Amino acid sequence: MTKCDICGQEVQKTFLDKILGTIIKDEKGKKHEICNSCQSKLKTSKEILKNVK
Ligand SMILES: [Zn+2]
Repeated sequence: MTKCDICGQEVQKTFLDKILGTIIKDEKGKKHEICNSCQSKLKTSKEILKNVK
C-alpha cells in the first residue's frame, strides 16, 4: 500500500493502479506520493514539497 507523504493516509488507487493524487519529485529526485485531498489543499508542487516529511 502507498502512503501519502504529507498526511500519512493510504493513497487510494484506481482499478488501473493509477494513484488518486500525484507523485512529485523533490530536488534530490526522490519521489513522494501525495493523496488527492492533500494535493487539492496545497495546489502547487512547491507547496507540496514544503509539506512532505
Ligand atoms: Zn495526504
